Amino acid sequence: MIGLLIYGGVFAAAAAAVYILILEIGGLGTPPSWTRDLIAGGLAVAVLGWAMQWIARRFQKVFHRRCIQCGREAIKGSIYCGPHLREVTILERERAELDRL
Ligand SMILES: [Zn+2]
Repeated sequence: MIGLLIYGGVFAAAAAAVYILILEIGGLGTPPSWTRDLIAGGLAVAVLGWAMQWIARRFQKVFHRRCIQCGREAIKGSIYCGPHLREVTILERERAELDRL
């Protein structure tokens, strides 16, 4: 849903920018003021979407007890469920051992 917000905003801004370009290349006069509003609005919506996504991710790390890989209930104080936490721990241990070599 947030992704839709971002794409919608970027798309609106891009569409307005293309419209302005066409007008200026075609020598059809100055673009109407709403095109600039649309670009500004579209970018604002996209930035808002990015910010919301960032906050949602932070939120999930701090409060949400769901595994970020599979969505199952996560272990307290962790962002992973049991099986994924084990997986990640093993991977990290292997990486640490590789670093030592
Ligand atoms: Zn999981």
